[in-house]
Amino acid sequence: MKSGWVDSEAQAAIDRYARDGISRDLALRVYTTRLIGRDPKLVLHGGGNTSLKTTMPDLLGEEVAVLCVKGSGSDMATIEPAGLPAVRLDRLRKLRARAALSDEDLLRIERASLLEPTAPNPSVEILLHAFLPHKFIDHTHANAILSIVDQPDAEAICAELYDGRVSLVPYVMPGFGLAKTAADIYDAKPEVEGLILHTHGIFTFGASARESYERMVALVTLAEERLQKNRKAVFVTAQLPQAIAPVDAVAPILRGACSRKDEKIEGAWRRMILEFRTSPAILNFVNGAELARYGQAGVVTPDHTIRTKNWPLVTIAPARDRMDDFKRAAHAAVTDFCERYQAYFARENARAGGIKRPLDPLPRVALVPGLGLFGLGRSKEDAKIAADLAQCAVEVITDAEAIGRFESISQAQMFDMEYWPLERAKLGSATEKPLAGEIAVITGGGGTIGRATAKTFAAAGAEVALLDCDERAAADAAKAIGAAALAVKCDVTDGACVRDAFARVVAAFGGVDIVVSNAGAAWQGRIGEVGEDVLRQSFELNFYGHQRVAQAAVKIMLAQGTGGCLLFNVSKQAVNPGPNFGPYGLPKAATLFLVRQYALDYGADGIRANAVNADRIRSGLLSDAFIAERSKARGVSEKDYLSGNLLGREVTADDVAQAFLHQALELKTTGDVTTVDGGNIAAALR
Ligand SMILES: [Zn+2]
Repeated sequence: MKSGWVDSEAQAAIDRYARDGISRDLALRVYTTRLIGRDPKLVLHGGGNTSLKTTMPDLLGEEVAVLCVKGSGSDMATIEPAGLPAVRLDRLRKLRARAALSDEDLLRIERASLLEPTAPNPSVEILLHAFLPHKFIDHTHANAILSIVDQPDAEAICAELYDGRVSLVPYVMPGFGLAKTAADIYDAKPEVEGLILHTHGIFTFGASARESYERMVALVTLAEERLQKNRKAVFVTAQLPQAIAPVDAVAPILRGACSRKDEKIEGAWRRMILEFRTSPAILNFVNGAELARYGQAGVVTPDHTIRTKNWPLVTIAPARDRMDDFKRAAHAAVTDFCERYQAYFARENARAGGIKRPLDPLPRVALVPGLGLFGLGRSKEDAKIAADLAQCAVEVITDAEAIGRFESISQAQMFDMEYWPLERAKLGSATEKPLAGEIAVITGGGGTIGRATAKTFAAAGAEVALLDCDERAAADAAKAIGAAALAVKCDVTDGACVRDAFARVVAAFGGVDIVVSNAGAAWQGRIGEVGEDVLRQSFELNFYGHQRVAQAAVKIMLAQGTGGCLLFNVSKQAVNPGPNFGPYGLPKAATLFLVRQYALDYGADGIRANAVNADRIRSGLLSDAFIAERSKARGVSEKDYLSGNLLGREVTADDVAQAFLHQALELKTTGDVTTVDGGNIAAALR
């Protein structure tokens, strides 16, 4: 790798931060921390940390010696000076004399020693930074370093490669013990440029930000060069079926297999979101005949444990024409995985004194021979992080196997890391939203009601896909919701288009749990005179459109086997025809029956079907111009026209969205019609 240091950029950082009273040293500390953070071959997702020893005034204005160390879990690529909280150095150094230090005591001492009381918690590796004497220290889990130290003979490889420039530290769990061990090893040979931590990563240090950073670059480069020498061919490919099923056929089955019934709430499921990745390197890895050995050997660095668990799920290759076999095998593999995890927990927890509570036993990474890998998480973001770390593991293990044999830490060591409260704190403790882990598809997603519904479902924790024949409108609506929202062009009057759109949703998230079939448009005409073509056009959209969408969704829901929810925007026209609105009301009446048919035919599969009958909502269908015309025709104000109902209240798209959300959450309700019209006795169902 090459150094990213550029003099003019370093100077720009100094100048920029000087305006806020930030010292040159801290500005350069931020600059090189970002250089490291933006290179995924050095650090990923909160892994790695950096520090600076300097002096600063405390709250009373007295200059004190401090360690500015990266805050726990913060992102190095975008770090600001506040992301490197300052801690009184003399207090931290005194701790080295202790024989032991509990996590609780360390946390209290840290927090009591912060110059700024509201600063984030410092990195879990704070004491290692404090006990070493250097002004600047950098720590990464560089891929190339991991490939040479995740080996049984890492010591011999490092001795030959680094020729005394680094000392090797045996594996000790991060925290007080590692800090003391590393400092003792450093003291025995203080001329080294860095420390290499067996099965963990690398520390470099220096008198300047540039020196420490460029030592990191140099030592990692040597490891990269070593990995290119004397490589053996990896891996020997296993026998695979001729035709492999596509991702949109595999993902719902895998997702269903990795879901668990909620033990407390009947009808509820705990589901995962999926992120699919494939590449020649991933396929080479997952197709290997010895995948069961190297793919199950453990994490490439202990920090990954909390995101990926200690080993991935491995399935059989999905043959295109034998998906039933794949489904059976996937369920059996997940059951085995969970049992193995529970046995690991029981064994290690007994060793640890029985004080831990088990985390869910489900996999966070799945390897599918012939296809690729999936990251799994309770949100799209978590699934992506798991997939990133899995891809990193593929690279590290492939290179490790090319020069030797990949080896990880022991299960006891993994357990200590996975259940370490300071490590778990990196994940945060926000309570989950009601639709976490669920995937909702909204048709007509670019329109007023679709947009409001997608926003409401996303706010309730669902991943959302907005389908609309107006691609731009869908994209705009998705953008307003957030980065994870998906926009898909879809004309629901075209069967192939609907199937493609659902395949895209499945490829993006892994499946479908909720559908809000909302796309529609109004046609008018006096029923005795209206052209048949008009009627057929309206049926294509307002009846067959719903049927195509529901059919595509049900197919995926059945593959998942975890139930589902079909919601339809039906309209009051279905039960209370308006004059000359036959072409609109007739297909809507058929759609109301469609809801009941789905409720009847798929109730036993846990798939619910409900409808919302809304009326007089300001939207694309009931445009401002139309409202003006209708209210004028009736001789009332626009406001009176819109609130001409029993409650005298205007009904909005958000009211409709709330009704859909309630129906999605009502696990014991199917075949239901909820009216959202402010009260209209003529449209009441009997
Ligand atoms: Zn580390």
